[in-house]
Amino acid sequence: MTEPTIYELSSPGRKGVQFPESDVPKTELPQSFLRSKLPLPELSEVDVIRHFTKLSKLNYSIDQGIYPLGSCTMKYNPRINEEVSRFPGFALTHPLQPVETVQGNLALMYQLQEWLAEIIGMKGVSLQPAAGAHGEFTGVSIIRKYHADRGDLLRTRMLVPDSAHGTNPATISMAGFEAVNIPSDARGNVDLEALRAACDETVAGLMLTNPNTLGLFDEHVCEVAGIIHECGGLLYGDGANLNALMGIAKPGELGIDIMHYNLHKTFSTPHGGGGPGAGPVGVADFLVDYLPGPIVVMVEEGDEENPPYFDFQMPSKSIGRVKSFWGHFGVIIRAFTYISMHGDEGLRKVSQMAVLNANYILALIKDKYTLPYDRICMHEFVVEGQWKDAPGIHALDVAKRLMDYDFHPPTNYFPLIVPEALMIEPTETESKQTMDAFAEALNKIADEAKSDPDLLHNAPHNAPIRRLDEVKAARDLVMCCHFPENE
Ligand SMILES: *Cc1c(COP(=O)(O)O)cnc(C)c1O
Repeated sequence: MTEPTIYELSSPGRKGVQFPESDVPKTELPQSFLRSKLPLPELSEVDVIRHFTKLSKLNYSIDQGIYPLGSCTMKYNPRINEEVSRFPGFALTHPLQPVETVQGNLALMYQLQEWLAEIIGMKGVSLQPAAGAHGEFTGVSIIRKYHADRGDLLRTRMLVPDSAHGTNPATISMAGFEAVNIPSDARGNVDLEALRAACDETVAGLMLTNPNTLGLFDEHVCEVAGIIHECGGLLYGDGANLNALMGIAKPGELGIDIMHYNLHKTFSTPHGGGGPGAGPVGVADFLVDYLPGPIVVMVEEGDEENPPYFDFQMPSKSIGRVKSFWGHFGVIIRAFTYISMHGDEGLRKVSQMAVLNANYILALIKDKYTLPYDRICMHEFVVEGQWKDAPGIHALDVAKRLMDYDFHPPTNYFPLIVPEALMIEPTETESKQTMDAFAEALNKIADEAKSDPDLLHNAPHNAPIRRLDEVKAARDLVMCCHFPENE
């Protein structure tokens, strides 16, 4: 039975709101403001509530089950983050308020800058960038200005390993450099020979993700840093995978000069639906003056009677602003809350558990899935969604079939260097029971791929929409309301 649409439920004059009698004089509206036709459905409150509740149930979310989307770090978002970010003292402040009236906000931002710097071993942090990719662009722009300021204008190329996230080469191009691909070696590390061969006086730097998108810690990270520095380049760290490292290793001590954080991933803000993220950038001491600003500085230390006093300051050689106002403050509050709740021991535990969980699932499914780089993984891993004895089965079929078992599919077809890639990241917030059930579903699907391949080809069987034409959905995006009368 198909349910009536909200247009079929519509009835002229039906309303969901009641306005009190008007107590202000009536005024004519300028006719040019009014639309002659606005075919909105007329509904009662309960119809509207049911409509949106039904819609919300069609969506899968982290509050419903494991969201093993590799590279995205879809951890559970603690409710206290939401509560704190809605405190009136934060939520009701305005970005144009004079700084003396928002000292609490600045204190929070200052503390977060300090904590983030400490966590990765950097000297300074700017909270401005709006997301990871924006942090990358900021970081590579800093590299550009650093070389330019030294009159080193030959450096036009940036190196990027072939396992990198697509945003890395895109960032390089956007920042005006030429992207040069560096292959991975047989163990999934940066190929040192290829790296040496590519390094010369035209190299501005290398963008390294460590652990990389195969979920592997680059065993030669210090040599990689040495090679890049020796030829005069800088080492950029894509910090999206920080969830594997907190309290265990500091990228700044491994030779990385600049790194972005994905606060929405590592430090838990709901993301993935296009909502705001935050991609602060941390830098080593020799780059602090290049940070985008303004950043928060402590201008008076304070003592027993007086709290410290904070202000905004533009670093002296800053690349400028990369964002209006002060960054995504709501996400900044959530990251601050998350770090406060965990403390340093807690953050280390987060990373230890994230790595343990990924290795646990890997161990459970390893007999049924091909693991192209057979090593202990970090917080995620990549297997192949194809089998020699199951011709015609692709990673996409495995992903879609998982939906029939009520699990969100993992990332697929990324990284590009693994054929039919399935990239799995459970995060630290999943229980053993959930991971057991998830691995069991994956193992059943591997069997079905051989015994009943059409089960996979036709999946998902229960979803409201079966297989979308994803290319068409992306190219011909329809974002406006659906008005049947206009058709
Ligand atoms: C998520 C991710 C990015 C991009 O971050 P956004 O916040 O989505 O812009 C970059 N690199 C890696 C490895 C990632 O996982």
